[in-house]
Amino acid sequence: MCENQHTCGCSNAETRHNWTKEEIMAIYNKPLMELLYEAATVHRKYHDPNSVQVSTLLSIKTGGCSEDCAYCPQSARYETEVKIENADMMSVTHVKAQALRAKSAGASRVCMGAAWRNVKDGPEFEQVLEMVRTINKLDMEVCCTLGMLTENQAQRLAEAGLYAYNHNLDTSEEYYKEIISTRSYDDRLKTIDNVRKTNITVCSGGIIGMGESLEDRAGMLVALSTLNPQPESVPINALVPVEGTPLEDCEPVDIFEMVRMVATARIVMPQSQVRLSAGRTQMSQEGQALCFFAGANSIFAGDKLLTTPNPDINEDMQMLGVLGMRIQKPFETHPQPQTVEAEDSQYHSLGENPKWTRPNHKIERNEGKRVRATH
Ligand code: SF4
Repeated sequence: MCENQHTCGCSNAETRHNWTKEEIMAIYNKPLMELLYEAATVHRKYHDPNSVQVSTLLSIKTGGCSEDCAYCPQSARYETEVKIENADMMSVTHVKAQALRAKSAGASRVCMGAAWRNVKDGPEFEQVLEMVRTINKLDMEVCCTLGMLTENQAQRLAEAGLYAYNHNLDTSEEYYKEIISTRSYDDRLKTIDNVRKTNITVCSGGIIGMGESLEDRAGMLVALSTLNPQPESVPINALVPVEGTPLEDCEPVDIFEMVRMVATARIVMPQSQVRLSAGRTQMSQEGQALCFFAGANSIFAGDKLLTTPNPDINEDMQMLGVLGMRIQKPFETHPQPQTVEAEDSQYHSLGENPKWTRPNHKIERNEGKRVRATH
């Protein structure tokens, strides 16, 4: 067995890729103390249990998205209070300034989100590539979440120095059709596959509290854990219901459900960074501490998560200080990618027009909100 298992990220025979829904549900439903003990044991075998990775999330292009994700206030189909402050792309200078601010506050990773269905070749994508080069040169990990991606676009991001690409599965394949009608689960998997053809690490997780069953939560963990390799980063979000979206009336997620989800993700994906994402403002510090004990070792910091509220980074640093947690440095688990300058690029824009699926099912609830928003 590897002696350096906290940091080297090597694969280990104990990482299984054949979990079944039944096995995962049995883990999730264990008596809580037993589940916590098991998850914490796995956690300290593969990770330093007293360290946490801190990322910041920047919305580089906000709102006006064509998709109908029922949880998302950035969809143009719903009438929400999302201020379209970055409807145009954020400038590279602004992104650099924000990244430097996050770095000085202790963040090691900058994740940039654009409200797009998929990446389109052209000036906006070129600007994103320049942002990636700029942040990588600040010696920070760079992550992007830009929607669906072709293999050529993934290669271009890798060349620019992208460290991670986020593309969440959101929920189980079965329940996905109740949340999004404008693209398919297979499209999601295809993008993850395109990212996997490069040296970019994969960040993929989901959301709980959208009305899904326990079986759906387990189904999502089956889909993630059976990927080989498993995603290096797995964000677990608790829905933040936003007025005007089809899921505005969902009940808040109980903290113990969140703890169970984190612990189960930790057990079935022992080497991944499990990330506490949206929904932290609804959690007490004690609740978050329990999530860290259950195996979460990454958080998003900064007062906004794209458009929803998040604890202030200073409050987070104070909490981590109280818990005696060490803030991870950049590139502790994977080496820093090299940045190839635009003029030396091996890959060029192909001007592709990929045919991503447009499934023809309709979600009544989403349609209802769309009709209301357009009147
Ligand atoms: S989650 Fe992403 S793809 Fe879906 S509506 Fe929001 S911005 Fe668009």
